[in-house]
Amino acid sequence: MLKIVPSGGDRMKNYKCDVLVVGAGPAGSNAARYAAKGADVLVIEKKKEIGSPVQCAEGVSQGIFDKLEMKQESRYISTKIEYVKLIAPNGTVVRLDGEKVKYWKSGMVLDREVFDKAIAKEAARKGTDFLMNTRFISAKRNSEGVTVKAKQMEEDIEIQAKVLIGADGPPSIVAKSLGMDTTVPLRYMESGIQYLMTPMEVEPCIELYFGDCYSPGGYTWVFPKGEDQANVGLGVLPVKAKENAQFYLDKFIERPRFKDSKIVEVNAGAIPVGGPLEKPYMDNLLLVGDAGRFVNPLTGGGIHTAIITGKHAGELAAEAIAKEDYTSNFLKKYNDMWKPDIYEELDKCLKAQEAFMKLTEKDLDSIADTLKDLKLETISTLSILKAIVSKNPGLLLKFGKFI
Ligand SMILES: Cc1cc2nc3c(=O)[nH]c(=O)nc-3n(C[C@H](O)[C@H](O)[C@H](O)COP(=O)(O)OP(=O)(O)OC[C@H]3O[C@@H](n4cnc5c(N)ncnc54)[C@H](O)[C@@H]3O)c2cc1C
Repeated sequence: MLKIVPSGGDRMKNYKCDVLVVGAGPAGSNAARYAAKGADVLVIEKKKEIGSPVQCAEGVSQGIFDKLEMKQESRYISTKIEYVKLIAPNGTVVRLDGEKVKYWKSGMVLDREVFDKAIAKEAARKGTDFLMNTRFISAKRNSEGVTVKAKQMEEDIEIQAKVLIGADGPPSIVAKSLGMDTTVPLRYMESGIQYLMTPMEVEPCIELYFGDCYSPGGYTWVFPKGEDQANVGLGVLPVKAKENAQFYLDKFIERPRFKDSKIVEVNAGAIPVGGPLEKPYMDNLLLVGDAGRFVNPLTGGGIHTAIITGKHAGELAAEAIAKEDYTSNFLKKYNDMWKPDIYEELDKCLKAQEAFMKLTEKDLDSIADTLKDLKLETISTLSILKAIVSKNPGLLLKFGKFI
């Protein structure tokens, strides 16, 4: 039960908890879920409803449910993916599926509204309290931990906590408020935009379009969502793009294929693609998910890293409460927890992203030509890149660092 502390003369509401999580995305709710096993946990979320509006293309691979330690229910999934199409600037299509890839592990397009709510409900079952419609404003350290000022609807409130988990996306204002600089360098801040479009014919297939003609510094996607609608979106790097993200998306949907489709939802957001923060912790603070820049730099995908970092931070926060040690010296253990799971993959994908930035449209066309006829061992990003270099040694200079 949430503790409301008497607040002296004024009428401001004061709350007290061991662990305060800011943001109820997958990272924050999963952190709360694990922290609640050993601590009093409160989550504050600025939105009225968890998971809505969605700011995501919702693509993940099957493995996410192993990491989540929750039963995979069909209601979390909009569409199961049977194959992937990679499309080069010259229109060459590379189809990746069970025939071409020995160890095919299919992907899926989630229903994030349902998925995010399901994780939050698991956290609630473990005893987590939630304050919705409550926006984090600032935090200040004191002798007992941290005092947070927040706005619940129109009302000012204060929350006293020992450990703060910043799950508020990039750049984390929670971290900034406690003195950590989380500004994402412009070179690594992708700008994403997406339309939900319907009606349209869809296949159980993820389509990815590469090249500056589609989306400079990023890629364009069409992800099917149910029977006759799709998430159509793209990410661009402002340092490479001459126009804003919407310009490129509007150009993309001028294709005849979208002639009768209507835009029924628009969402946009920033995607940090520079790799995780070196120290996503400090006294009284742990950062999870996008707030700690835990995003795959090559794909821009961050749901599975949000789940993983959320779990580790939640467990560590509960341990910190049990040991009454909230110092950076204790919380640095966080890096020993998440690194074995994801560091290598994120690091390699960062190097791959840097190489990808150097590719010309001509390079991409010749890569597509190679992949068209290639059989692969697995469909991991790295195995695809290795296969490309073995057939196009000329690209070794551009890819060299991570192969
Ligand atoms: C256009 C786009 C497409 C994407 N597509 C994919 C994809 O297909 N696959 C994939 O894996 N990833 C994708 N991503 C990335 C993915 O959405 C994120 O990595 C993921 O949501 C990170 O989870 P999170 O919990 O860290 O942050 P979020 O899901 O962003 O949650 C942060 C929460 O904090 C809350 N919050 C923020 N500030 C405050 C505040 N001051 N006070 C209180 N609450 C606050 C927000 O309301 C939000 O609920 C995409 C991102 C974008 C922008």
